[in-house]
Amino acid sequence: MNNQPDKSLTIIGAGLAGALLATLLARSGWQVDVYEKRGDPRVKGYEGGRSINLALAERGRNALRQADADDAVMTQAVMMRGRMVHFADGTLQLQRYGRDDSEVIWSVHRGDLNITLLDLADKAGARLHFDRRLDSVDFDARVARFRDDRAGQAHETGFRALVGADGAGSALRAAMNRQADLGERSEFLDHSYKELEIPPSADGDFRIEPNALHIWPRGRYMCIALPNDEKTFTVTLFLPNEGDPSFASLKTVADARALFERDFADALPLIPDLEEDWQRNPPGLLATLYLDRWHIDGRAVLLGDAAHAMVPFHGQGMNCAFEDCVALARKLEAGVDLAEAFAGYEAERKPNAAAIQHMALENYLEMRDRVDDPDFLLQRELERKLQERHPGRFVPHYTMVTFMLIPYALALERSEIQRGILVRATHGHDSLDSIDWQALDDDVQARLMPLLDVA
Ligand SMILES: Cc1cc2nc3c(=O)[nH]c(=O)nc-3n(C[C@H](O)[C@H](O)[C@H](O)COP(=O)(O)OP(=O)(O)OC[C@H]3O[C@@H](n4cnc5c(N)ncnc54)[C@H](O)[C@@H]3O)c2cc1C
Repeated sequence: MNNQPDKSLTIIGAGLAGALLATLLARSGWQVDVYEKRGDPRVKGYEGGRSINLALAERGRNALRQADADDAVMTQAVMMRGRMVHFADGTLQLQRYGRDDSEVIWSVHRGDLNITLLDLADKAGARLHFDRRLDSVDFDARVARFRDDRAGQAHETGFRALVGADGAGSALRAAMNRQADLGERSEFLDHSYKELEIPPSADGDFRIEPNALHIWPRGRYMCIALPNDEKTFTVTLFLPNEGDPSFASLKTVADARALFERDFADALPLIPDLEEDWQRNPPGLLATLYLDRWHIDGRAVLLGDAAHAMVPFHGQGMNCAFEDCVALARKLEAGVDLAEAFAGYEAERKPNAAAIQHMALENYLEMRDRVDDPDFLLQRELERKLQERHPGRFVPHYTMVTFMLIPYALALERSEIQRGILVRATHGHDSLDSIDWQALDDDVQARLMPLLDVA
């Protein structure tokens, strides 16, 4: 008789989280089957479509290291030292994210990253099944039904447990909701996004500073641009759905061009195919997904965007999804039964997902409306000073989220205390010269305990 515990799982979705989780588990001896609705991107090219590149930060890199994937991913990554702010008057300012080049984020190509992770999952022994779109699930009989969208054939397979890594529109989540109410609600942002491209220059180089995340903040809306290693930039315009200007008010490509001429004048000459890009890419919706429950006993569990899709303004959706993978793999490896492992994973990750969802919404306002404000810039200056005066105690918000591995919930809690300190201390001041440092130091000591990273 075989007394080995059953270490088999079926993952739905071979996107970023699905491929990483498959690698982590297969390397620990799990029998993993992964079902993906699209074709194999290694054979037919990546058909992702949306959000062509992504900012990879320390949380994501830490997870990639657990799968020995970091080196391969980093060969294609472009360093971003900070925000390059393009002011309305045409001037530029680099606002560093961290203290030096040890505190930076990295722009990675979604398709390349996905392919790297799929290769690793394959090598680790995971069984990848492409052109299999999850259609429905019989949780009692433990049978999952799939469809091959090329010819419409149906397939089915038995499973021990399902992991939903099938993204924001998760079919597994819909099937779970039919079995047991997950308490799902989505809050749509009243802004959407559109992607455009800055091609390489005539001599094949980057057209603007490559080692930065470019931002054109314009109050109620903004453009950003992230570099790609083939010397292009992916530009994303975030705009309200209604009002003026908005996706509704820009009725023609000429309207879009006029908006760029007026508000993004230095970006316009960099985007020669504005018209084509504008017509090809419909606006993408942005939403935050909240669930009360992420699992049904030991039969199914959700992770990544399927569990907690968020708006992209902190560049943490993928990073958070990767942390989920490590947390779930760790719980599964602890050898407890699946229901206990899924419950433990949910208890650990749900408050943290909620915290980064909240911070991502807050960061939109900061990026589009605050990064060019004098009071915001004074607060950032004070933040850096307090970081120097209280190392390990006053740690800037962005640093906690982006360069550390402390739980997001703790980062949020401390950020709120720190924001209060910064706002109070700079209120009514034009510069730091008139600050009462003694009182401020006492305030910091009283309100913040030293912070230890969990790395
Ligand atoms: C504009 C934009 C910019 C972003 N920028 C960043 C950033 O800079 N940094 C960052 O960390 N995050 C960013 N994100 C968030 C990031 O894209 C997501 O958090 C991340 O892709 C989540 O990974 P996932 O594996 O959970 O889902 P996905 O990447 O969506 O993968 C889901 C996979 O499941 C497959 N699938 C779907 N339905 C089925 C089905 N029925 N059956 C089988 N397979 C299915 C899909 O084909 C896909 O391969 C951004 C998002 C957007 C929209």
